[in-house]
Amino acid sequence: TKMQRLGLRTLRGEQAWAERAADILPGGVNSPVRAWNGVGGHPLPIASAAGAVITDGAGRDYLDLVDSWGAGIVGHAHPAVVSAVRAAASNGLSFGATTEAEVELAEEIRDRYEPAQKVRLVSTGTEATMTALRIARAATGRDVIVKFAGLYHGHSDALLVAAGSGLATSGVPDSAGVTKAVAADTMVLPYGDVDALTDAFAEHGSRIAAVITEAVPANMGVIAPPAGFHRLISDLCRNEGAVFIVDEVLSGFRAGPAGGWGLERDADIAAGREPWAPDLVTFGKVIGGGLPVAAVAGRADLMDLLAPLGAVYQAGTLSGNPVAVAAGLATMRLLDDDAYAHLTRVSTMMRRGVSAELASHGITHAVGHAGTLFSVFLGLEEAPVTFDDVSRQDALAYSDMFHSLRGSGIALPPSAYEAWFVSLAHTDEHVGKVVDAIIAWGGREAKQP
Ligand code: PLP
Repeated sequence: TKMQRLGLRTLRGEQAWAERAADILPGGVNSPVRAWNGVGGHPLPIASAAGAVITDGAGRDYLDLVDSWGAGIVGHAHPAVVSAVRAAASNGLSFGATTEAEVELAEEIRDRYEPAQKVRLVSTGTEATMTALRIARAATGRDVIVKFAGLYHGHSDALLVAAGSGLATSGVPDSAGVTKAVAADTMVLPYGDVDALTDAFAEHGSRIAAVITEAVPANMGVIAPPAGFHRLISDLCRNEGAVFIVDEVLSGFRAGPAGGWGLERDADIAAGREPWAPDLVTFGKVIGGGLPVAAVAGRADLMDLLAPLGAVYQAGTLSGNPVAVAAGLATMRLLDDDAYAHLTRVSTMMRRGVSAELASHGITHAVGHAGTLFSVFLGLEEAPVTFDDVSRQDALAYSDMFHSLRGSGIALPPSAYEAWFVSLAHTDEHVGKVVDAIIAWGGREAKQP
């Protein structure tokens, strides 16, 4: 079977470590994708990371294409971020009261992303999207949330229905422990399906509080949003009085300078069209630079529904934590035009180089990409749009590639359903290393019948 075949790869030291970790942590991890269920085998614990390189407990170095699932956009342990964290830490770890840096980080977000008129900082993307739903329901007095299959918005109950990321490979399409009543208020549609969306609004429009989507879907691999899809959502929401929530937790300040939305805004402006705008938007990952910071933001009238101004309750002991905010602020300040030019160049070279090599080995594949975000789907002829499209990929070939590249010192995401991340520390040389490793792999598994 698949697991037996993959199990053969497990080395003794990794097995011993995995058993110790699994004895105390469920599954040996504190977040499911880290357990490598999607590719088989057992990872060693990570000891350290610097720049583009991550080092495991056995002292083996890997070129890191996970980057803490996107948070590590400036590279691991960037000196400017580390020194900002040190300085903040020595001034006190947490006060439970507002600091100037929180206001600066919120301003930094608004200055780069105009629809973020007001900002509330939280600690995780899960809290951000959960709060966005609560605001939308309060603003509309309605219950129903529309989400798209395979898109992931964190693990709050209402959003754990047909979600991507770890759920895509866990064998549990919907989490146990979510009540039928909660799931019943979440309407799941196929991504990019214009008819399904217009029908849902025609039939249930007056019950829909919000539509939530990822600005660039990246939790079932990276999907380019179909042209006009977000504008359609925006129009339907406006006409029916629903709230359009754009989740930029992964794509924000990563897909481009103003996230996935900014890419479309720029294209609209270039084409002479009035850009659409989200009503609410969520951020995470990049804005914390590797420490726990996330945010819900958006239209001032909606954001002012939050306590203490309004009746929507939301709070957090560690929200806007000074050390975490220092990391986020230092990270954001490194993200200037040159930084985005670098990320664009390296990510483009990487996806093109990998694709060319796969093609030259006769390996059927497709590359999904939007801005600097990309991922590779083995076994697909064209870039997928829906979760059904994605699930036809050859996940077994991916795990073969994953383990082969690992042997070449490259850490791919441990699942065929995730984005590949580059950082400011990734260089042309690193791209060459990845391309060479693809050559060394040569698609053995992919070519077997
Ligand atoms: N939304 C998106 C688009 C994400 O990619 C994620 C995490 O991967 C989340 C929300 C949840 O964020 P967190 O893991 O910080 O709770």
